[in-house]
This record gives sequence, structure tokens and C-alpha cells, in this order.
Amino acid sequence: MNSYSEFCALCDDIKCEYSVDVPLRDYTSFKIGGNADVIVFPDTAEKLSFVTEYANKNAVRVLVIGKGSNLLVCDKGFRGIVINTCKMDRIELVDETTIRCECGASLSRLCRFALENSLSGLEFAFGIPGTAGGAAYMNAGAYGGEMKDVLVSCVHVNSEGKIGEFKGDELDLTYRHSVYSDSEYIILSLTLSLKKGDKTEIKSVMDDLMSRRKDKQPLEYPSAGSTFKRPEGYFAGALIEQCGLKGYTSGGAQVSEKHAGFVINKGGATADDVVNVIEHCKKTVLEQTGVELEPEVKIIGQEGI
Ligand SMILES: Cc1cc2nc3c(=O)[nH]c(=O)nc-3n(C[C@H](O)[C@H](O)[C@H](O)COP(=O)(O)OP(=O)(O)OC[C@H]3O[C@@H](n4cnc5c(N)ncnc54)[C@H](O)[C@@H]3O)c2cc1C
Repeated sequence: MNSYSEFCALCDDIKCEYSVDVPLRDYTSFKIGGNADVIVFPDTAEKLSFVTEYANKNAVRVLVIGKGSNLLVCDKGFRGIVINTCKMDRIELVDETTIRCECGASLSRLCRFALENSLSGLEFAFGIPGTAGGAAYMNAGAYGGEMKDVLVSCVHVNSEGKIGEFKGDELDLTYRHSVYSDSEYIILSLTLSLKKGDKTEIKSVMDDLMSRRKDKQPLEYPSAGSTFKRPEGYFAGALIEQCGLKGYTSGGAQVSEKHAGFVINKGGATADDVVNVIEHCKKTVLEQTGVELEPEVKIIGQEGI
């Protein structure tokens, strides 16, 4: 499809916000990435389903993003429709210990909502910068907790606009992986089961984890968090540091001096710069330690597709 005028007119009809030819660097925590043909901001499941159906019928590629905090978008951008979920952000209490939220709700807001309701179990997620949908997709985790511990079910839509649900083991939550990884489903909402707790204790754990993040992580620079998955029995950051790669630089991308597990954008980094740093770390760590590093960051459209 060469022109998106028909799609934009349809978006106008259903009152779905969109922008054309948009730099994706503005929608990723790395502040890197070329332009997308169109980005849409559905605020209801119906509008989101409409977009997926339209794209499917017209053979247009779709990329769904939350806060773009685990993405490296290539310099040539994305040919197709990007669905940004951030306007689907409602959160509600279903019963005393159950929370339901839409996919675009920010994790930090979700953690604060749990705190306000004296619900414990989500403290680990405070400070992970992303949406609930992105966290479910990635089975995000930190400090001994992961989404698997609290996620009960997800409602999703497929490319034909059909709504479905995965519950419990069907979610297939393992380390930084879920049933949704590399599938065509888009998560619409999540149900989380928490436990009644003491507000002061919950808050003190959240504050402690946040200050540990601020101490250890290079939050002053744009990044996508840990660049590599944790190889079994090792820590990626420690291996990279051990190989003398702290501070290794290509263009504007650098292995953080503060935490070698993070590749940071020191200023003006391109996606190619980041890929160069990733490849150099992978090669050096493999040669020097025999351990194979696998990126945790999702690399979108390396060939400019
Ligand atoms: C400073 C920093 C610290 C971080 N610390 C941690 C940490 O401690 N632990 C951790 O696990 N991660 C961490 N991350 C990585 C990131 O925050 C998580 O992976 C987060 O869960 C991604 O959420 P997102 O909404 O930004 O997803 P995005 O980056 O927008 O997308 C990530 C993937 O999820 C898919 N996706 C997003 N929304 C949906 C949806 N509704 N339906 C289907 N697929 C969807 C996307 O297509 C993509 O493949 C960190 C990142 C940064 C920048």
C-alpha cells in the first residue's frame, strides 16, 4: 500500500488519533529510530481491533508498542502501521485482591494503584519503565519478582479482530518470554492477583528498589535497560565488564561505565551504532569466556522493513 489516505480517513471516522511519517525515536526510551509510515493511538479495544483488521485485510505490517522501553528501532524506520497502546490505560479493582488494567497502563501507575489499595506483589515492578501489556509480553521482572507471580490472564485480539484470552499456564511465562512473544496477538487487558498487605511496608519496598535502581543504573542516559538476557549461571553485565568492554563506544552508543549490562545513547546514537556495540560485545564475550549473549532488547526492522 503506497498511500495511507484511506486508512487516515477511516481513523477520522472512528475518532482514532494518528500521525503520519513520525520519528519513532520520539516513542522509544533509547531515543533512536527512523520514521514509521503511520502511528495510531487507539483509546479503546474496538478501535485497536479495527486497526488490526484493516491492516490484515490490506496486507499492511503492524508493530505494537507500549512505552518503547525495550526496543531498538532501525534507522530506516518501520514500513507499516505502529499501534501505540498508551491511551488504553484504565485500571480498576475487580475485588479485594484482583486488579484489571488495560494494556497501555504504565507499570509505575499500576504499582501505585496497588499501593493505594494496600495490595502487595507488584513491588518488584516499581521502576520498570513500560506498560502493563509490554510487561506481560516480556514477562518483565526484577529483584526476584516477575509478572508470572501476579499475572492471572490476558485478553488479546488477533489480526482478524477476534478476541480471545489466555489464562494461567496458557500464558507460558518463562524468563523474558510469554505465549505472546513473536505471536500475532495483541494484549488488550490483564488481570492480576495480589495479596492484602501493609501499605507502609509495601511503600518501603518500592522506595528501596527505586533507590537501588538509581544507584546502579545509568538512568541519566537514554537506553532500553539491560541489553542482553541473563545467560544461565552468569550476569551479562559482569561478563562484559570482565572482558574490558566498559566504555566501549561506537558513534554515539556506549557500554555504560556505570553498569556494563546497559548500552546507552550518549547523544546522537544511531541504531547501527547500537548494533555495532551489541555485536562487538557478543563476539568478544564469546571469544573470551565461551558464553553466548542473546539480546533482550527487541530489534525492529534491521533491514529497514
Ligand atoms: C532504564 C530501564 C530499566 C529497565 N529495567 C527493566 C527491569 O528491571 N526488568 C525488565 O524486565 N525490563 C526492564 N526494562 C525493559 C522494559 O522496561 C521492559 O521490557 C518493559 O516491560 C517493556 O514495556 P513497554 O511497554 O515499553 O514495551 P515495548 O518496549 O513498547 O515493547 C516490548 C515488546 O512488547 C511488545 N508489546 C508491547 N505491548 C504489547 C501489547 N499490548 N500486546 C502485544 N505485544 C506488546 C512489543 O511489540 C515488543 O515486542 C528496562 C528498560 C529501561 C529503559
